[in-house]
Amino acid sequence: MYISLTDLFKIGIGPSSSHTVGPMRAARRFLVELPAATLEKVKRLRVELFGSLAHTGRGHGTDVALQLGFSGELPDIVDTAAIPQMIAAIANNQSLALLGTRNIRFQPMLDIRYNLKDVLPLHSNAMTFRAFADDMKAPIAERTLYSIGGGFIVDEDEAFVGSPRGAEISVPHPFAHMVELLQRTVAQNASMVELLRANEYSLRGEAETRQFLDRVIETFFTCIDRGIATRGQLPGGLNVKRRAPDIHHQLIVERGQRGTAPHKVLDWVSVYAIAVNEENAAGGRVVTAPTNGAAGVVPAVLRYARDFCGVGHEGMHDFLYVAAAVGALCKMNASISGAEVGCQGEVGSAAAMAAAGLAAALGASNEQIENAAEIALEHHLGMTCDPIGGLVQIPCIERNAMGAVKAISATSLAMRGDGTHRVSLDQAIDTMRRTGADMQSKYKETSQGGLALAQVEC
Ligand code: SF4
Repeated sequence: MYISLTDLFKIGIGPSSSHTVGPMRAARRFLVELPAATLEKVKRLRVELFGSLAHTGRGHGTDVALQLGFSGELPDIVDTAAIPQMIAAIANNQSLALLGTRNIRFQPMLDIRYNLKDVLPLHSNAMTFRAFADDMKAPIAERTLYSIGGGFIVDEDEAFVGSPRGAEISVPHPFAHMVELLQRTVAQNASMVELLRANEYSLRGEAETRQFLDRVIETFFTCIDRGIATRGQLPGGLNVKRRAPDIHHQLIVERGQRGTAPHKVLDWVSVYAIAVNEENAAGGRVVTAPTNGAAGVVPAVLRYARDFCGVGHEGMHDFLYVAAAVGALCKMNASISGAEVGCQGEVGSAAAMAAAGLAAALGASNEQIENAAEIALEHHLGMTCDPIGGLVQIPCIERNAMGAVKAISATSLAMRGDGTHRVSLDQAIDTMRRTGADMQSKYKETSQGGLALAQVEC
């Protein structure tokens, strides 16, 4: 069982990996996997959303994502600037171009249905797609797909065979738990990075792997730069002002001034994370790390590593190998979906990834890397998912800043020890799984509990 870094870091669009990237891929997949003869007959489409997708889908842009997916668009290459125009055209014409080919009638208000009553048993984020030929009475095709976090999509069969937790991919150094990875490092007298790098090279070769990592880094940093350069309000109706440009401007002005308090370096980390998550909330291009809601933590800590710790190109690759492995462990053994385990699975997993990545980039031992990830995750356990108005804005944007700061502290603490500690990363991940199972559904991305009930002045 293995989840590679190309599966974990998916380049896509905001605001949500489970509610935007996943549904977009699912809508496209439903059509692409129809037999050709059936696809030819399709004249109408309808999709029913359940659980968290029904409750917070509008705020997360699920409706937009579905229309893009039906139109054949892919999250990593869709022109984000053209999306508003594409969606307006569908609404005006009441039709869309099926997989980008021929026009069929599509009425977004009628054909995207929000089932607020029912939750399907396999996962809260369920979508049932139906295709029709001449009338709307009997579908010629019907399929339920699940968006299980981080942009991953499964159908009912895949959910049962274990694909949501990790594909059956063969690599030279497989592991399902951190303890196994640590044992392998001892047996091979190798660093964690060396084993993880060998795994990734075995899947697609050195050149392609390095190219992919460079593309991820470039997307991370472009997103930060766009976020700190873009003023205005975020969409959705909460009237949330973008803060990254002002904070960044203040930091530039204060740079080099005498008497600047040392803790202000953390404001740089925060502004990097806020910039990414403001871009995400605005539907911009981000990378799942491991999700969109938590997309700011890893890039913020990576940029901190580059700008404040002198970590170079190779060090940034090392960071990402280890971060991806920790994210994969969270996904395989618990969940990275807010709808499944709350925000501990999103920002908590992201903080663990970033802490481990930073430790690796700074030359920590294998044991210190594990300890860094464990500290970061442990102090996010129990954190609920309660976005106000179903929008990935409050508390999500600031929460990423806090996750990034905690990740750096976790690395620093871990590197002051020798890696010996009481609770292992595997135990923390298992605690996250159990805590998520015990968590009431109103705290799992339904916007029906917690902070989501706070009064917000718009
Ligand atoms: S509260 Fe956390 S898990 Fe929920 S949408 Fe926001 S970032 Fe994602």
